[in-house]
Amino acid sequence: MPAPAVFWFRRDLRLLDHPALSAAVEEGRGRVVPLFVVDPRLTAPAGPTRVDFLRRSLDSLNTDLGGTLTVRSGSPVTVIPEVAREAGARAVVATRDYGPYGRERDLAVRDALAAHSIELRLVDSPYLVAPGTVVGEAGRPLKVFTAFRRRWENELSEETSELPANIDWVSLPSEGTSSLLSGASTKRPWYFGDLPTPVAPSPPLAGETHARQLLVDFARRVDTYDEIRNLPGRDETSRLSPYVKVGAIHPRRVLAACSGSSTGAAVLRSELGWREFYADVLWHQPQSVRDDLQPGLRHLAVDRDDAAADRFSYWARGETGFPLVDAGMRQLALEGWMHNRVRMVAASFLVKHLHLDWRWGARWFMWNLVDGDVASNQHGWQWAAGTGTDAAPFHRIFNPTRQAERFDPDGEYIRRYVTELRDVTAPACWAPSGGTGLLAAPGYATAMIDLDTERREALARFAAARGAS
Ligand SMILES: Cc1cc2nc3c(=O)[nH]c(=O)nc-3n(C[C@H](O)[C@H](O)[C@H](O)COP(=O)(O)OP(=O)(O)OC[C@H]3O[C@@H](n4cnc5c(N)ncnc54)[C@H](O)[C@@H]3O)c2cc1C
Repeated sequence: MPAPAVFWFRRDLRLLDHPALSAAVEEGRGRVVPLFVVDPRLTAPAGPTRVDFLRRSLDSLNTDLGGTLTVRSGSPVTVIPEVAREAGARAVVATRDYGPYGRERDLAVRDALAAHSIELRLVDSPYLVAPGTVVGEAGRPLKVFTAFRRRWENELSEETSELPANIDWVSLPSEGTSSLLSGASTKRPWYFGDLPTPVAPSPPLAGETHARQLLVDFARRVDTYDEIRNLPGRDETSRLSPYVKVGAIHPRRVLAACSGSSTGAAVLRSELGWREFYADVLWHQPQSVRDDLQPGLRHLAVDRDDAAADRFSYWARGETGFPLVDAGMRQLALEGWMHNRVRMVAASFLVKHLHLDWRWGARWFMWNLVDGDVASNQHGWQWAAGTGTDAAPFHRIFNPTRQAERFDPDGEYIRRYVTELRDVTAPACWAPSGGTGLLAAPGYATAMIDLDTERREALARFAAARGAS
């Protein structure tokens, strides 16, 4: 019997259109050990909702594999060589990882395997075009999205692949996915305080089959995507981000299913491009996971004291008294997901009206979002904070009331999530509660700040930061 290959699943929890898995099948001449490693470094920034989504995604994959998935916990540098030797494998195959931690980890695992004469083969990527591929003149990284997108679109291919039939999945003793729950992190930063973070009560279903169904449904309405994507009340975007994140579906499939010539399809392609752009920026500048990409705002004064943590707590609980922000934060708590337009508004509010560090908000999002993705999240936040590549200028400050008026005209979204406002119709439901003749709905929080005062404060801090740099 041929030696099996080990296939190390990471951000590619699917069987369809999977070049790396196909390479493992070839390598093991049909015999493959499907393996997932619960790595404490990766679960550390994830709260219960994100961990639970990962667990359910793995359970679904295990079902698709006929119950043969081997799950082990520990550092991959130790676990991968152990499993490979146990299986008698000569090669371990995986999809290449492009994040800062993943790159380092893979180099260390490659060395650990080489000590036993076992090869680590890295194939394909979680992207349409691998980060680092699209470059400008003289091979320089592209810093502006539109320039990136033009070149990136030239690299796109609609090629997809199928998994060979008759695979012999080889199962080794497994700890099962419950090890994910026992190993889940308790590494909460101090400013989370006593904020409760139970598993979200209405999270998305998990698994490849569900992701494929969502895509079929979305492909039918993609032609109107450009018109509806900014309207959170309509809830008609694809909702594919959690599945793209864990790789239950590859963006190749999304592109192939939505490849028409309509404006909607073109705008969707561009949104997929943002994901690739952010991964590319992170590939070239791994320090941008934490550091501001634009040095110009390095001196911006942000608050980090106990009073700042109190303001953070109102924001995270969805009790700011600003209905659109609160609706978004409550959608996050309820579903582990938030609409893109509202992510932008909630992020801007934290940075520009509450004067908090964007990293605090980014950490809360990464803790709670089922689609939590380092590149898209950290750079989505830096975009909102005005410190990232191609960022919104700092002095352009979203007014959450105007945003609600424009993008939730009937208050459909707000009333869905802020239950105290269920019976309050537009325009009253957009306005901050309390204050000068504005909304006073029973039981709903009073507005925690005055928008104009804090806007002026933000602009003063901005001017001071520019003067200092
Ligand atoms: C502050 C902030 C934080 C964010 N954090 C994340 C995150 O952790 N993970 C994440 O996947 N997205 C993040 N985004 C981007 C975006 O909000 C989500 O990808 C989108 O809301 C997912 O919903 P959807 O699947 O219905 O998207 P659709 O509108 O249907 O788009 C299709 C796919 O394109 C990609 N995409 C769409 N818009 C963006 C975008 N602006 N940036 C990057 N990719 C995009 C996603 O993979 C998405 O599934 C963040 C945005 C902001 C402003």
